[in-house]
Amino acid sequence: MREKPAVTFLATGGTIASTRAAGSQGIRPTMTAQDLLGTVPQAADVAEVTAIQVNQQPSASFGFAELLRICALARQQVADGAQGVVIAQGTDSIEETAYFFDLLWDWDAPLVVTGAMRNPSQPGGEGSANLLAAIQTAASAAARGLGVLVLLNEQIHAARFVRKSHTFAASAFASPIAGPLGWVVEGIPIFHTRVPRHPRLEPTAAMPAVALVKSVLDDDGRLLRALPGLGYSGVVIEGMGGGHVPMSVLPAVGELVAAMPVILCSRAGAGEVMRHTYGFPGAEIELIRDGVVPGGALDGLKARLLLTVLLSCGASREEIAAEFSARGYLAN
Ligand code: GLU
Repeated sequence: MREKPAVTFLATGGTIASTRAAGSQGIRPTMTAQDLLGTVPQAADVAEVTAIQVNQQPSASFGFAELLRICALARQQVADGAQGVVIAQGTDSIEETAYFFDLLWDWDAPLVVTGAMRNPSQPGGEGSANLLAAIQTAASAAARGLGVLVLLNEQIHAARFVRKSHTFAASAFASPIAGPLGWVVEGIPIFHTRVPRHPRLEPTAAMPAVALVKSVLDDDGRLLRALPGLGYSGVVIEGMGGGHVPMSVLPAVGELVAAMPVILCSRAGAGEVMRHTYGFPGAEIELIRDGVVPGGALDGLKARLLLTVLLSCGASREEIAAEFSARGYLAN
Protein backbone atom coordinates (compact mmCIF):
# COMPACT_ATOMS: atom_id res chain seq x y z
CA MET A 1 0.00 0.00 0.00
CA ARG A 2 1.27 3.50 -0.84
CA GLU A 3 1.98 5.78 2.10
CA LYS A 4 -0.43 8.62 2.62
CA PRO A 5 0.98 12.14 2.18
CA ALA A 6 2.12 13.93 5.32
CA VAL A 7 0.10 17.07 6.07
CA THR A 8 0.76 19.46 8.95
CA PHE A 9 -2.20 21.22 10.53
CA LEU A 10 -1.40 24.48 12.34
CA ALA A 11 -4.17 25.82 14.60
CA THR A 12 -4.28 29.45 15.69
CA GLY A 13 -7.79 29.94 17.12
CA GLY A 14 -10.72 31.63 15.38
CA THR A 15 -14.43 30.85 15.26
CA ILE A 16 -13.61 27.34 14.05
CA ALA A 17 -12.15 26.70 17.53
CA SER A 18 -14.43 28.90 19.61
CA THR A 19 -16.80 27.81 22.36
CA ARG A 20 -18.71 29.58 25.10
CA ALA A 21 -17.48 28.94 28.61
CA ALA A 22 -20.15 28.71 31.32
CA GLY A 23 -20.89 32.20 32.64
CA SER A 24 -18.91 34.00 29.92
CA GLN A 25 -20.46 36.47 27.56
CA GLY A 26 -19.46 35.31 24.14
CA ILE A 27 -17.42 32.69 22.39
CA ARG A 28 -13.63 32.50 22.54
CA PRO A 29 -11.09 30.18 20.91
CA THR A 30 -10.63 27.20 23.24
CA MET A 31 -10.45 24.06 21.06
CA THR A 32 -6.93 22.82 20.43
CA ALA A 33 -5.42 21.55 17.20
CA GLN A 34 -5.92 17.98 18.46
CA ASP A 35 -9.56 18.71 19.41
CA LEU A 36 -10.22 20.03 15.90
CA LEU A 37 -8.46 17.15 14.20
CA GLY A 38 -10.57 14.81 16.34
CA THR A 39 -13.71 16.16 14.65
CA VAL A 40 -12.54 14.91 11.23
CA PRO A 41 -11.58 11.21 11.53
CA GLN A 42 -12.05 11.00 7.73
CA ALA A 43 -8.82 13.03 7.35
CA ALA A 44 -6.88 9.84 8.12
CA ASP A 45 -8.19 8.36 4.86
CA VAL A 46 -6.18 10.86 2.79
CA ALA A 47 -3.22 12.00 4.92
CA GLU A 48 -0.98 11.40 7.90
CA VAL A 49 -1.84 14.58 9.76
CA THR A 50 0.35 16.18 12.41
CA ALA A 51 -1.52 18.77 14.48
CA ILE A 52 0.35 21.69 16.07
CA GLN A 53 -1.16 24.40 18.26
CA VAL A 54 0.59 27.64 17.27
CA ASN A 55 -1.36 30.14 19.31
CA GLN A 56 -4.95 30.88 20.27
CA GLN A 57 -5.92 34.39 19.37
CA PRO A 58 -8.33 36.63 17.46
CA SER A 59 -7.13 36.93 13.88
CA ALA A 60 -7.56 40.71 13.95
CA SER A 61 -4.65 40.85 16.39
CA PHE A 62 -2.00 39.11 14.28
CA GLY A 63 1.10 41.23 13.77
CA PHE A 64 3.76 40.82 11.09
CA ALA A 65 6.23 39.25 13.55
CA GLU A 66 3.68 36.55 14.40
CA LEU A 67 2.81 35.97 10.73
CA LEU A 68 6.50 35.62 9.85
CA ARG A 69 6.86 33.08 12.65
CA ILE A 70 3.84 31.06 11.42
CA CYS A 71 5.08 31.20 7.82
CA ALA A 72 8.56 30.04 8.88
CA LEU A 73 6.98 27.17 10.81
CA ALA A 74 4.89 26.17 7.78
CA ARG A 75 7.95 26.36 5.50
CA GLN A 76 9.95 24.24 7.93
CA GLN A 77 7.23 21.58 7.92
CA VAL A 78 7.56 21.27 4.15
CA ALA A 79 11.36 21.21 4.40
CA ASP A 80 10.91 18.34 6.87
CA GLY A 81 8.73 16.35 4.47
CA ALA A 82 5.14 17.64 4.70
CA GLN A 83 3.43 17.55 1.32
CA GLY A 84 0.94 20.19 2.35
CA VAL A 85 0.15 22.50 5.26
CA VAL A 86 -3.22 23.65 6.61
CA ILE A 87 -3.59 26.73 8.78
CA ALA A 88 -6.86 27.27 10.66
CA GLN A 89 -7.44 30.80 11.86
CA GLY A 90 -10.12 33.39 12.48
CA THR A 91 -11.75 34.42 9.25
CA ASP A 92 -11.61 38.16 9.92
CA SER A 93 -8.13 38.59 8.48
CA ILE A 94 -7.76 35.55 6.17
CA GLU A 95 -7.84 37.74 3.05
CA GLU A 96 -4.73 39.51 4.41
CA THR A 97 -2.82 36.67 6.10
CA ALA A 98 -3.21 34.30 3.12
CA TYR A 99 -1.89 36.91 0.69
CA PHE A 100 0.98 37.76 3.05
CA PHE A 101 1.92 34.06 3.23
CA ASP A 102 1.58 33.78 -0.56
CA LEU A 103 4.17 36.53 -1.10
CA LEU A 104 6.62 34.45 0.95
CA TRP A 105 5.66 30.96 -0.27
CA ASP A 106 7.70 29.30 -2.99
CA TRP A 107 7.05 25.64 -2.25
CA ASP A 108 5.05 23.51 -4.66
CA ALA A 109 3.42 22.05 -1.56
CA PRO A 110 0.12 23.83 -1.02
CA LEU A 111 -0.51 26.02 2.02
CA VAL A 112 -4.27 26.00 2.63
CA VAL A 113 -5.82 28.54 5.00
CA THR A 114 -9.24 27.77 6.44
CA GLY A 115 -11.61 28.76 9.23
CA ALA A 116 -15.33 28.83 9.90
CA MET A 117 -18.07 31.41 9.85
CA ARG A 118 -20.28 29.48 12.30
CA ASN A 119 -18.87 28.26 15.58
CA PRO A 120 -19.00 24.56 16.51
CA SER A 121 -22.00 24.95 18.83
CA GLN A 122 -24.20 26.58 16.17
CA PRO A 123 -26.52 24.54 13.98
CA GLY A 124 -24.72 24.04 10.70
CA GLY A 125 -21.31 24.90 12.14
CA GLU A 126 -19.12 24.21 9.12
CA GLY A 127 -15.66 24.21 10.71
CA SER A 128 -15.07 20.46 10.55
CA ALA A 129 -16.27 20.32 6.92
CA ASN A 130 -13.86 23.13 6.06
CA LEU A 131 -10.99 21.51 7.94
CA LEU A 132 -11.54 18.16 6.24
CA ALA A 133 -11.74 19.76 2.79
CA ALA A 134 -8.60 21.80 3.57
CA ILE A 135 -6.69 18.65 4.53
CA GLN A 136 -7.94 16.87 1.40
CA THR A 137 -6.72 19.84 -0.65
CA ALA A 138 -3.34 20.04 1.10
CA ALA A 139 -2.82 16.33 0.45
CA SER A 140 -3.82 16.54 -3.20
CA ALA A 141 -1.36 16.42 -6.09
CA ALA A 142 -3.70 18.70 -8.07
CA ALA A 143 -3.14 21.55 -5.60
CA ARG A 144 0.64 21.52 -5.98
CA GLY A 145 2.23 24.62 -7.47
CA LEU A 146 -0.74 26.90 -6.78
CA GLY A 147 0.77 28.75 -3.83
CA VAL A 148 -1.43 29.75 -0.92
CA LEU A 149 -5.08 28.75 -1.14
CA VAL A 150 -8.10 29.69 0.97
CA LEU A 151 -10.71 27.03 1.52
CA LEU A 152 -14.17 27.70 2.95
CA ASN A 153 -17.61 26.51 1.94
CA GLU A 154 -16.12 23.82 -0.32
CA GLN A 155 -14.58 26.51 -2.54
CA ILE A 156 -10.85 26.89 -3.14
CA HIS A 157 -9.70 30.48 -3.69
CA ALA A 158 -6.35 31.94 -4.71
CA ALA A 159 -4.93 34.08 -1.90
CA ARG A 160 -4.40 36.98 -4.31
CA PHE A 161 -8.09 37.23 -5.24
CA VAL A 162 -10.04 36.18 -2.16
CA ARG A 163 -12.01 38.67 -0.09
CA LYS A 164 -14.23 38.36 2.96
CA SER A 165 -17.47 39.79 1.67
CA HIS A 166 -20.02 39.10 4.42
CA THR A 167 -19.99 39.41 8.21
CA PHE A 168 -21.59 36.06 9.06
CA ALA A 169 -22.70 34.05 6.00
CA ALA A 170 -21.02 30.68 5.40
CA SER A 171 -20.57 31.89 1.81
CA ALA A 172 -18.61 34.97 3.00
CA PHE A 173 -15.47 34.22 0.95
CA ALA A 174 -15.48 35.20 -2.69
CA SER A 175 -13.01 36.03 -5.45
CA PRO A 176 -14.88 38.82 -7.22
CA ILE A 177 -12.68 39.10 -10.29
CA ALA A 178 -11.73 35.54 -10.97
CA GLY A 179 -14.08 33.26 -9.08
CA PRO A 180 -12.69 30.35 -7.08
CA LEU A 181 -9.91 28.27 -8.63
CA GLY A 182 -11.90 25.15 -7.86
CA TRP A 183 -13.84 23.24 -5.23
CA VAL A 184 -13.90 20.02 -3.28
CA VAL A 185 -16.47 17.47 -4.39
CA GLU A 186 -16.92 14.10 -2.66
CA GLY A 187 -13.57 14.63 -0.99
CA ILE A 188 -11.70 15.37 -4.24
CA PRO A 189 -10.25 18.83 -4.92
CA ILE A 190 -10.98 19.88 -8.50
CA PHE A 191 -9.28 22.86 -10.15
CA HIS A 192 -10.73 24.40 -13.26
CA THR A 193 -8.21 27.22 -13.48
CA ARG A 194 -4.68 27.95 -12.28
CA VAL A 195 -2.84 31.15 -11.38
CA PRO A 196 0.66 32.16 -12.46
CA ARG A 197 3.19 32.22 -9.62
CA HIS A 198 5.55 35.07 -8.84
CA PRO A 199 8.99 34.82 -7.24
CA ARG A 200 9.07 34.61 -3.46
CA LEU A 201 9.79 37.89 -1.70
CA GLU A 202 12.16 37.76 1.22
CA PRO A 203 11.65 40.47 3.83
CA THR A 204 15.01 41.43 5.26
CA ALA A 205 14.25 44.17 7.74
CA ALA A 206 11.55 45.25 10.15
CA MET A 207 8.24 45.84 8.41
CA PRO A 208 7.77 49.57 7.76
CA ALA A 209 4.42 51.25 8.42
CA VAL A 210 2.23 51.54 5.31
CA ALA A 211 -1.08 53.41 5.52
CA LEU A 212 -4.32 52.54 3.74
CA VAL A 213 -6.57 55.53 3.04
CA LYS A 214 -9.94 55.40 1.30
CA SER A 215 -10.97 58.29 -0.97
CA VAL A 216 -14.19 59.97 0.17
CA LEU A 217 -16.28 62.89 -1.02
CA ASP A 218 -15.24 66.37 0.09
CA ASP A 219 -11.89 65.14 1.45
CA ASP A 220 -9.42 67.98 2.00
CA GLY A 221 -6.39 65.69 2.14
CA ARG A 222 -5.43 66.39 5.74
CA LEU A 223 -5.12 62.71 6.60
CA LEU A 224 -2.81 62.10 3.62
CA ARG A 225 -0.76 65.18 4.50
CA ALA A 226 -0.23 63.94 8.06
CA LEU A 227 1.29 60.59 7.04
CA PRO A 228 4.98 61.55 6.66
CA GLY A 229 4.96 63.22 10.07
CA LEU A 230 3.42 60.09 11.59
CA GLY A 231 6.33 57.97 10.38
CA TYR A 232 4.66 56.14 7.50
CA SER A 233 6.95 54.87 4.76
CA GLY A 234 4.29 54.31 2.09
CA VAL A 235 0.60 54.68 1.42
CA VAL A 236 -2.10 52.90 -0.52
CA ILE A 237 -4.97 55.10 -1.63
CA GLU A 238 -8.23 53.31 -2.39
CA GLY A 239 -9.58 55.66 -5.03
CA MET A 240 -13.07 55.78 -6.41
CA GLY A 241 -14.12 53.73 -9.44
CA GLY A 242 -11.30 53.11 -11.90
CA GLY A 243 -8.81 54.92 -9.62
CA HIS A 244 -9.92 58.50 -9.04
CA VAL A 245 -9.45 60.93 -6.15
CA PRO A 246 -11.11 64.29 -5.43
CA MET A 247 -9.23 67.25 -6.98
CA SER A 248 -9.04 68.71 -3.48
CA VAL A 249 -6.51 66.06 -2.38
CA LEU A 250 -4.17 66.47 -5.36
CA PRO A 251 -1.76 68.85 -3.58
CA ALA A 252 -1.51 66.36 -0.70
CA VAL A 253 -0.95 63.47 -3.15
CA GLY A 254 1.84 65.46 -4.83
CA GLU A 255 3.55 66.03 -1.45
CA LEU A 256 3.23 62.34 -0.65
CA VAL A 257 4.73 61.17 -3.95
CA ALA A 258 7.76 63.32 -3.18
CA ALA A 259 8.08 61.66 0.23
CA MET A 260 7.15 57.97 -0.24
CA PRO A 261 5.70 55.38 -2.66
CA VAL A 262 1.99 55.98 -3.30
CA ILE A 263 -0.09 53.09 -4.66
CA LEU A 264 -3.50 53.61 -6.27
CA CYS A 265 -6.17 50.91 -5.82
CA SER A 266 -9.93 51.05 -6.15
CA ARG A 267 -12.53 51.07 -3.43
CA ALA A 268 -15.02 49.58 -5.93
CA GLY A 269 -14.49 46.00 -4.75
CA ALA A 270 -13.58 44.37 -8.08
CA GLY A 271 -11.74 45.14 -11.30
CA GLU A 272 -8.36 46.61 -12.21
CA VAL A 273 -7.33 50.21 -11.68
CA MET A 274 -7.50 51.96 -15.07
CA ARG A 275 -4.29 53.31 -16.60
CA HIS A 276 -5.23 54.88 -19.92
CA THR A 277 -8.88 55.95 -19.86
CA TYR A 278 -9.76 59.05 -17.83
CA GLY A 279 -8.06 62.40 -18.42
CA PHE A 280 -9.73 64.69 -15.86
CA PRO A 281 -7.86 66.10 -12.84
CA GLY A 282 -7.81 63.47 -10.08
CA ALA A 283 -8.08 60.61 -12.58
CA GLU A 284 -5.61 57.83 -13.23
CA ILE A 285 -3.74 59.21 -16.27
CA GLU A 286 -2.53 62.33 -14.43
CA LEU A 287 -2.00 60.51 -11.13
CA ILE A 288 0.22 57.92 -12.82
CA ARG A 289 2.06 60.64 -14.81
CA ASP A 290 2.78 62.35 -11.48
CA GLY A 291 4.32 59.27 -9.91
CA VAL A 292 1.44 57.33 -8.36
CA VAL A 293 1.75 53.56 -8.95
CA PRO A 294 -1.41 51.75 -10.11
CA GLY A 295 -2.17 48.61 -8.08
CA GLY A 296 -4.08 46.69 -10.74
CA ALA A 297 -6.58 44.18 -9.43
CA LEU A 298 -5.12 44.13 -5.93
CA ASP A 299 -7.47 45.64 -3.38
CA GLY A 300 -6.17 48.09 -0.81
CA LEU A 301 -5.60 45.42 1.86
CA LYS A 302 -3.47 43.26 -0.42
CA ALA A 303 -1.64 46.22 -2.00
CA ARG A 304 -0.71 47.43 1.48
CA LEU A 305 0.84 44.04 2.26
CA LEU A 306 2.74 43.92 -1.04
CA LEU A 307 4.12 47.43 -0.52
CA THR A 308 5.06 46.63 3.09
CA VAL A 309 6.97 43.52 2.06
CA LEU A 310 8.63 45.27 -0.91
CA LEU A 311 9.78 48.14 1.31
CA SER A 312 11.13 45.68 3.86
CA CYS A 313 13.11 44.06 1.01
CA GLY A 314 14.62 47.46 0.22
CA ALA A 315 12.90 47.73 -3.20
CA SER A 316 13.49 50.95 -5.17
CA ARG A 317 10.64 53.04 -6.61
CA GLU A 318 11.25 51.44 -10.03
CA GLU A 319 11.21 47.94 -8.55
CA ILE A 320 8.00 48.72 -6.65
CA ALA A 321 6.31 49.91 -9.85
CA ALA A 322 7.50 46.80 -11.71
CA GLU A 323 6.25 44.45 -8.99
CA PHE A 324 2.80 46.07 -8.90
CA SER A 325 2.64 45.89 -12.67
CA ALA A 326 3.53 42.18 -12.68
CA ARG A 327 1.45 41.12 -9.67
CA GLY A 328 -1.48 43.52 -10.06
CA TYR A 329 -2.15 43.28 -13.80
CA LEU A 330 -2.36 39.65 -14.79
CA ALA A 331 -2.55 40.54 -18.50
CA ASN A 332 1.02 41.88 -18.48
N1 GLU B 1 -15.33 36.00 12.48
C1 GLU B 1 -14.08 35.56 12.99
C2 GLU B 1 -13.89 34.08 12.67
O1 GLU B 1 -14.57 33.63 11.79
C3 GLU B 1 -13.89 35.97 14.38
C4 GLU B 1 -12.64 35.54 15.05
C5 GLU B 1 -11.34 35.82 14.36
O2 GLU B 1 -11.25 36.31 13.24
O3 GLU B 1 -10.36 35.50 15.02
O4 GLU B 1 -13.11 33.33 13.13
